[in-house]
Amino acid sequence: MCGIVAYVGPRDAQPILLDALGRLEYRGYDSAGLAILNGKGVEVRKKSGRIEELAKACRSKPVNGKSGISHTRWATHGAPTDTNAHPHLDASGKLALVHNGVIENYLELKGQLTKSGHKFLSDTDTEILAHLLGDTFEASKEKGEKKLIDAVRKALTQVQGTLGIAVIHSDLPGLVVGARRGSPLVIGVGNGENFLASDSQALAPYTNRVVVLQDQEVVALHADRFDVASPLGQKADIRVEEIEGGAAASDKGAHPHFMLKEIFEQAETVRSAFRGRLDPDEATAKLGGLNLSTEELREVERIFVLGCGTALHAGMVGKYLIETLAKIPVDTQHASEFRYGDSPVHEKTLFFAVSQSGETADTLGALREAKRRGFRCLGICNNVSSTIARESDGGVYMHAGPEIGVAATKSFTSQVVIFTLLSLLLGRLHSLSAAHGREILNALDRLPEHIHSLLKQSEKIRAIAHKYAQAHSMLFLGRLANFPIALEGALKMKEVTYVHAEGYPSAELKHGVIALIDKETPTVLIATHDGVYDKNLGSLQEIKARGGPVLAVAHEGDTKIAGMADAVFSVPRTHELIQPILNVIPLQLFSYHTAVALGRDVDKPRNLAKSVTVE
Ligand code: GLU
Repeated sequence: MCGIVAYVGPRDAQPILLDALGRLEYRGYDSAGLAILNGKGVEVRKKSGRIEELAKACRSKPVNGKSGISHTRWATHGAPTDTNAHPHLDASGKLALVHNGVIENYLELKGQLTKSGHKFLSDTDTEILAHLLGDTFEASKEKGEKKLIDAVRKALTQVQGTLGIAVIHSDLPGLVVGARRGSPLVIGVGNGENFLASDSQALAPYTNRVVVLQDQEVVALHADRFDVASPLGQKADIRVEEIEGGAAASDKGAHPHFMLKEIFEQAETVRSAFRGRLDPDEATAKLGGLNLSTEELREVERIFVLGCGTALHAGMVGKYLIETLAKIPVDTQHASEFRYGDSPVHEKTLFFAVSQSGETADTLGALREAKRRGFRCLGICNNVSSTIARESDGGVYMHAGPEIGVAATKSFTSQVVIFTLLSLLLGRLHSLSAAHGREILNALDRLPEHIHSLLKQSEKIRAIAHKYAQAHSMLFLGRLANFPIALEGALKMKEVTYVHAEGYPSAELKHGVIALIDKETPTVLIATHDGVYDKNLGSLQEIKARGGPVLAVAHEGDTKIAGMADAVFSVPRTHELIQPILNVIPLQLFSYHTAVALGRDVDKPRNLAKSVTVE
C-alpha cells in the first residue's frame, strides 16, 4: 500500500509534496515523511501518525529545496514509529529512499550488509534497500545521473518482492529516480516541472498529463525532462495520457465524510455502470470491452471469480446471478488462496479478477497465475490505468469515479451491476427468455430511482444505529444472493466501527451461531420477499425466542416483519435478482452511522488502507 509523491521543478518542494501526499492518505496513514535536497544535503522530516503530524513538523521547521520525495506509510515491517517512517537513508546519509511494497529477502540482505559493517536504525525492510542502493551507488563506475540509475537497476536484481520507489542523492541535485515492480507509479508531466506519484489523483491540481510506468521500468526525472528506461536499459516507449476527474472529484462536498458521500453517490454510480450497456431490443447487455466474440462467449463452460474483501462479496452475488440466469457454474475464491493453491480448473473456464483500484496485490497475483495457466482473464476495475486493467485480456470498467473512503461502498454496487449485465449477456446466449431479460433490464433502469428513495432513510437508520452502537458483537444473516450481502454488511461493520460482526447464511444459525444470541447481540436479518422469505421469518422467530434483538431489512410496507422485528430498514421492492443491490445500502448506512456514533475515524479506520498493494 502506501503513497509516494516526488517533485522536481522550480517551486518549493515541501508544500507540493505535503499537499499531494494528502490525496494519497487513503493508501496508508500510519506515518509519513519527506526528504528534500536543500542545497547542502538531504534533509528529512518524518512523523508517526497522520500526514497532518508531518505537516505540523514541517511548519515548525520548514525544509527548503526544489526537489524531494515523500511517503505515507502502511506498515508491513516494523511498528508505525517516527524511526520506521520513510524516507530511509543509506549509510552515507546522502541517499534517501521511499518505498511501497515488501522486500521479501530483506533478512538475508540484512545479514550480508551487517557483516560488511552496516548499522540499521529502523525495523523496516525498506532501510535495507536504501543501504544496498547506497553501496551499489558508491561502487558504480558510471558518472552523473547514470550512477544512480545503474545502482537502482542493479538493486532491482538483488531484491525479491514488490516495490515502487523514489530515490534522491545529494550528489545529484535536480534528479529523482523512480522504479516499479508490482507497486504502481505514475509520472506527472508538468510545465518545467515533473512529478512521481502512486496514483494520478494525487497530482490532480498540478497536471492531468501522466505516464503510467510499466513494471521493471526506471525513470530519471528532471524539471524539464524525464527519461524512462526499460528493464534492459533501452529507452522505453512512453505514452502521455490525459486523465479525467481532477481535484473536485476527490472533494467531500457537503458530506462530513467520503464514506457518506460515496454511499449517496450510488444512485448515479450504478447508472454509470450500466449506461450505454443496455440493449432493450435484444433484451440483453452490450459489453464491448470483453474482447470476446459471441462464439467465444457461448463456449464458456465455467466461470471463476477472484477478489478480496468487498470485491469478492460482489463476485459471490455474481455467482448467484450467473448461475441463475445463464446456468453456467461459477466458482469464487479469495484471490490470495487461489494464487497458492492447486485447485484444478476446468479448461473452458473464463476468469474474472475484481478490484476497485485494479492494484490489489493478491488479485493481481491470482490473475497472473490464471494467465500463466493459459486461461483468459477479464478485469472488473474502477481505475482505468491500473495494472489489473492493463494486464487482463479485457474487462468492464465501473466508471464510479474515485472512491476515497477506505470502506468500499459504491464500488460494491457497481461491481454487482456489472455482474448483472454479464449474467444477462450470457443468459441471453443460452436459455434466458427475452421476457425475463427485459424484466432485468427494467429493474436496472429503475435502480437509480429506487436508491434515491432509499437514501432518504438515512436519518431513520442513524437513530437505529445510535440505539445499538454499544453492542460488542453483531450478526448479519441472509440467504442465497443475500448471503454475500450479509457478509458485506458484517465486513462494513467491522471495518469502520471495530465492532465484532459475523455474516452467515440464515439457516446456519442453528448449526452453532445461535449460541451467540443474547439480548445484547443484535442480528441484522435480510428478509425481503423472495423464495426463502418464510424461511427467514422462521430464523427471525428463533432469534426472538432467545431474546435477541432483530433489525430486519424488509420491503416497504411489510407489516408482518414490522410487527416482529425490533427495527426495520425498509427498502423498495424490485426484481428479486436486483434486490441485493438495494439491500446492501441500509447496511452501509447502518455501519456508517454506528461508526460516527462511536466517534470512529470513518474514512480512515485503524490498521486499514484503501488499496492493498502488498501481499
Ligand atoms: N514495507 C515497507 C514498510 O513497512 C513499506 C510499506 C508500505 O508500502 O507502506 O515500511
